[in-house]
Amino acid sequence: MLLASPRGYCAGVDRAVIAVEKALERFGAPVYVRKQIVHNIHVVTELEKKGAVFVEEVDEVPPGAHVVFSAHGVSPAVVNAASDRGLRAIDATCPLVTKVHREAVRFARDDYEILLIGHVGHEEVEGTAGEAPDHVTIVNSPEEADTIEVRDPSKVVWLSQTTLSVDETMETVRRLRVRFPELQDPPSDDICYATQNRQVAIKKVAKDADLVIVVGSANSSNSVRLVEVALEYGAKAAYRVDYADEVEQAWLEGVETVGVTSGASVPEVLVQQVLDDLAAAGYRDVQEVRTAEEDLMFSLPKELRQDAAGKRDDRALGGRSRS
Ligand code: SF4
Repeated sequence: MLLASPRGYCAGVDRAVIAVEKALERFGAPVYVRKQIVHNIHVVTELEKKGAVFVEEVDEVPPGAHVVFSAHGVSPAVVNAASDRGLRAIDATCPLVTKVHREAVRFARDDYEILLIGHVGHEEVEGTAGEAPDHVTIVNSPEEADTIEVRDPSKVVWLSQTTLSVDETMETVRRLRVRFPELQDPPSDDICYATQNRQVAIKKVAKDADLVIVVGSANSSNSVRLVEVALEYGAKAAYRVDYADEVEQAWLEGVETVGVTSGASVPEVLVQQVLDDLAAAGYRDVQEVRTAEEDLMFSLPKELRQDAAGKRDDRALGGRSRS
């Protein structure tokens, strides 16, 4: 068994989950959360048991209640709607998503047309696009880059969702640049460190794996990308599962080497259950394939940085996969 590392929780997910837990401790249940705090069904179910109530929109939250914005970020329209309703908002948007929001605001202020590479309908893309709706055009795939039209080809910049396939995004950019040679790059990588690191690790695992199992939920963009990347880089088969009991016996037939990884919103306990089941099926020789060290940390959302006695709590939180 080849176990990819880094895998699992990133710093932004860790922070968002702890934010909900802290909010529940501090303010008591229920604490409302707009959308899934992170895209993992297990995490959401566990938080529900503790008193979190997940809603689609802020108009489902009773006036005056606490509402947490998810790690994927929200548009200014959502922030305003929460404020108009008198909600006490706690913003658990990952700081690396906020960074992309700021880029969008800045380029829109300078009257650039922003080509936002990302998946239509994904919460993060909706939030980023909502910062500058009149300046953003979403590019959903490399093929769309061939047909998209812009107002002024001398004033275009591309930004991206944080959880895309690096290779596919670069292909989209290549095609865009053929059509718009003056296309500007973002000031720094928008695809975040966690997404990139997990893709690099699974590429290394995939070339030696008959089968790759990715633990992660169907709506987790970075988890789904890991399946695609594994197949692209040589895995003979790759599947995504939420839980160990979804691994089918038939997948293991004739398989000598299994690669295992997990998306950035997946607690390690779910990976451990897969490893235990695979060990029971005879895959006991486990080798870790480590391609990066992670030690990024984020502090809690500012709304939670004061303890009950009113003292500031600026402790930094870290991704649980750091070593
Ligand atoms: S995957 Fe990246 S952008 Fe998303 S929460 Fe994690 S660190 Fe932040």
